[in-house]
Amino acid sequence: MQRWNGWGDDSIYLDLSVRGLRILHDLIGEGQNRPDYPLENFIERIPESRLNPHPLISFDPKLRLDHAHGQSLPDWIGFRGGTLQRFPDGVALPTTVEEIQDLLRFAISNKIVVIPYGGGTSVVGHLEVPETSRPVLSLSLERFNRLVGLDSDSRLATFEAGIRGPQIEHQLNSRGFTLGHYPQSFDYSSLGGWVVTRSSGQQSKHYGRIEQLFAGGDVLTPRGSLKLPPFPASAAGPDLRQILLGSEGRMGVLTNVVVKIVALPEKDDVYGVFFPSWERAVHVAQILAGTDICFSMMRLSNPAETMTNLALAGDGRQTALLVRYLRLRGISVKEACMCLVGFTGSRRLTAAARRAAFSIMRRYKGIFVGKPMGNAWKKNRFQSAYLRNTLWDLGYAVDTLETAITWDKVTPVMRAIEKALHEALKPDHQRIHVFSHLSHVYSSGSSIYTTFLFRLSETPAKTLEAWKRLKWEASQTITAAGGTISHQHGVGTDHKKYMAAEKGPIGIQTLEKIFNYFDPEHLMNPGKLLPEDRGQKAEMNSDFGMGNAEKGAGDRSQTQEGEKQLTE
Ligand SMILES: Cc1cc2nc3c(=O)[nH]c(=O)nc-3n(C[C@H](O)[C@H](O)[C@H](O)COP(=O)(O)OP(=O)(O)OC[C@H]3O[C@@H](n4cnc5c(N)ncnc54)[C@H](O)[C@@H]3O)c2cc1C
Repeated sequence: MQRWNGWGDDSIYLDLSVRGLRILHDLIGEGQNRPDYPLENFIERIPESRLNPHPLISFDPKLRLDHAHGQSLPDWIGFRGGTLQRFPDGVALPTTVEEIQDLLRFAISNKIVVIPYGGGTSVVGHLEVPETSRPVLSLSLERFNRLVGLDSDSRLATFEAGIRGPQIEHQLNSRGFTLGHYPQSFDYSSLGGWVVTRSSGQQSKHYGRIEQLFAGGDVLTPRGSLKLPPFPASAAGPDLRQILLGSEGRMGVLTNVVVKIVALPEKDDVYGVFFPSWERAVHVAQILAGTDICFSMMRLSNPAETMTNLALAGDGRQTALLVRYLRLRGISVKEACMCLVGFTGSRRLTAAARRAAFSIMRRYKGIFVGKPMGNAWKKNRFQSAYLRNTLWDLGYAVDTLETAITWDKVTPVMRAIEKALHEALKPDHQRIHVFSHLSHVYSSGSSIYTTFLFRLSETPAKTLEAWKRLKWEASQTITAAGGTISHQHGVGTDHKKYMAAEKGPIGIQTLEKIFNYFDPEHLMNPGKLLPEDRGQKAEMNSDFGMGNAEKGAGDRSQTQEGEKQLTE
């Protein structure tokens, strides 16, 4: 069963090795287990619903609690510490497009805020319930999850948007195909969620990010229904699919999704390589990313992450053997950088790619440790997220930050982010354990993925305060250096204040106008993505009986037109 106050299935528990725990104590001090806020207390606290009855809407308090959050660290503090304050007034679990249309019509005519809910794995506050005088409906796509059609000639598959990773691959693999989109949240996140948050899978170098896999689909917006046909290519003006990608529920509900699929690969192997220093390792990554060698993934850990991975690895004996072997080959474990590199596709092409990549890696003193490390990673690729549960129980919070930046800045920015995190809580004498890896490399640059661990404070409010400072310092560093505020996790509430730095004033206004057009009454997931909270502004204006300054006089009637279209 899915854990109500943590990650994943409650029958799975990952232990931390004694050695790993000892190292963590040495690095940042002993964590204090904080008692969990009981489920019964939440259930008692869920307020009366403000929604009128509707046959598709449930008011069940546990369901409302489950749909009140995602998986960000503030969400965790909220559900484990009991500080979660706002809950949707109801949850709908539609199973057909007609039911979704019906729910949107109901929302429009009753001025209900709608938060589309995919798999609930957002890590940036996408699903936070806004403070609003309007009722809030969580429109969950969990049961809207079937394969609608598969065109093997065109290599296109159409799915209902709520389908999750394992179901997608199950449907496709049995027909000889794959989508190949594997975010670490694969087991729980949904296809619709991937599209509207611009998600990136672990093998995106081979299969493409979701932007490349998304071919088209249908979006139900308060303005009406928008169809995005899966043209193989088009020169007919700007691509409207790009507006939906990254729209985070603000435009409407993505219903059917058409994706590009490929034949199942003959080979899908991951190899482990160690480099003697970060400088050499990053140089190799940059060279490889600039070639036409077809590797499917590269995950390059810096020395701190390599040390952490080796320390947390369950089998101490094997790790000791590996360390000894590396030392014999002239690699000091303090400077070692672990690199996982994958090759996916036909036997012939993967063999050629592997030979070419390994020859470059060898030139930079890469030491190969073969497939066992890669196999271990493949086996645990979706399981390591369970460590969040274990660490929290031991009194530690863990979070990740990510950006993407051009090659010239990768190393200085990674170091600056780590420094900012190390220093953020120094005034409180809190030590932070920080480590990074590059996980998606491009010819022009790379993503930087930084993980940080710190001890839980005495109260949830203080833990949240500590997280806010850490996040602020790191995000400021990223934007000041010209990195994107998000490589794959999206914007939600946690990143929206940094959006202006990335898009500029005209960019922000353009996005506002677009979302305003689709959703003139600001019903769709307000308060997310854009720096100014349009939802609150709309509410203030309607409270004072004013029209929104940005809204044309005809907007209400246009929403009525949308309502009519949804009926047709
Ligand atoms: C442990 C862990 C690991 C992760 N690893 C990765 C990773 O490797 N790569 C990556 O890209 N992300 C990763 N994420 C982040 C997260 O999984 C992605 O952002 C994912 O795309 C969210 O999908 P979801 O279905 O869970 O969406 P939700 O969390 O339910 O919703 C996210 C946003 O999408 C909107 N939305 C969802 N479905 C629809 C729809 N059908 N129509 C309109 N709007 C909709 C919601 O309103 C919300 O704004 C990870 C998260 C966790 C917790």
